[in-house]
Amino acid sequence: MSAHTSYNRTFQLIQEHHRWFQESIPLIASENVSSPAVREALASDFGHRYAEGWPGERVYAGCSFIDQVELLCIDLMKKLFNAEFVDVRPISGVVANLVVYTAFTEPGDVMMALSIPCGGHITTGKKRLGGTAGAVSGLDVRYLALDYKELNIDVDKTKKRMKKLVDEGTPPKLAIFGASVFPFPHPIRELAEVFHNVGARIGYDAAHVAGLIAGGTFQDPLREGADVVSLSTHKTLFGPQHGGVLSWNKDANIIKRATFPGMVSNHHLHALAGVTVACAEFLEFGEQYAQQVIMNAKELAQALYERGLKVLAEHKGFTESHIILVDITKQGDGGKIEEVLEKANIIINRNLLPWDIKEGRHFMHPGGIRLGTSEVTRLGMKKSEMHEIADFIKRVVIDKEDLNKVKKDVVEFRKDYQDVHYCFEDTAEAYKYVKIR
Ligand SMILES: *Cc1c(COP(=O)(O)O)cnc(C)c1O
Repeated sequence: MSAHTSYNRTFQLIQEHHRWFQESIPLIASENVSSPAVREALASDFGHRYAEGWPGERVYAGCSFIDQVELLCIDLMKKLFNAEFVDVRPISGVVANLVVYTAFTEPGDVMMALSIPCGGHITTGKKRLGGTAGAVSGLDVRYLALDYKELNIDVDKTKKRMKKLVDEGTPPKLAIFGASVFPFPHPIRELAEVFHNVGARIGYDAAHVAGLIAGGTFQDPLREGADVVSLSTHKTLFGPQHGGVLSWNKDANIIKRATFPGMVSNHHLHALAGVTVACAEFLEFGEQYAQQVIMNAKELAQALYERGLKVLAEHKGFTESHIILVDITKQGDGGKIEEVLEKANIIINRNLLPWDIKEGRHFMHPGGIRLGTSEVTRLGMKKSEMHEIADFIKRVVIDKEDLNKVKKDVVEFRKDYQDVHYCFEDTAEAYKYVKIR
């Protein structure tokens, strides 16, 4: 392929992707769609610049406007999360977690977190699994206990595991709450004191639920005992892909230093500008949006359950977040179900169930699927649309209907939901391809 053909082909592929998403039902729990205003900020010159250091103390010239935007961003995030200290420079949730590890641990320290099958993220994984905490930060990762039925951290078992570590002379230095499969608020209040008493810090990974926290509809980790919160800005929070760390003034300096010079040189200033715009939108519309996200998740879970799918945690209303976890073993495996749904323009992802590894299942073909309602909420969908989505999923997964037929109906259904809601200006359609060439 000639250079020019590759060049043209690239734009063609991006445009095909846009068209596909205009016609699909996006149910990936870690994704969302940002507003036209955020996308405008992303295309700005900020993305060509460096601003190493802290606003007002940069080691680069040309930062006067960038500094003002970054200060606005810090101020908005402080308001959204009621946080004393905010560092908006980590460029993603993974980098935010690395900042936390760098600020609060030394290589070799013991850290407790949920295992990956129990909902934990690769960033809190063991060295043996290539996880960031183990392989990059040199931490000795031990697991918080999960109650399989409650889909939440088991307080008593976790206390016992922690006591054992203390008795063995290796008390944890850090405990990370939060996860990637996260339907219910974690029991920080119940465990904060026992961890603090052995000298451990409490981190909270809000990558998934940052928007629900900012919307006041989930838990409030900083008030419940967390020392530090790491987050992504693009999951339930509807900004561009970026990260952030929230904490208390007493730890401001170690966090700042862990971020720079520790973890970032450039900090994706175009994304930072987008985050600032998204935070302003969130301050205005976030509460209403977050409430609708959770209502939609409960509604979709109930609708799927009524259509014969084994949605987990039925006895406690399925979920209190944007996330729904379904045991799909009766209908196939997570990998195959993901594939057939994709062919019908329904985008979800496979997910390990807590007991999958023990039952011999593997990440490529796990027993579960995970669904999230942030993006469909952003597209203006509510209760009745959740029932329509559940019908589409049933037709694929249970009725095994012809995929092209379902796809045709999905495309038709999606025509009415092309605008981004919960923002100041919906001047362009949600997945409109913007050309500036
Ligand atoms: C998604 C996720 C991350 C990583 O966030 P990125 O912004 O993609 O780097 C970290 N922790 C948890 C629990 C996550 O789900």
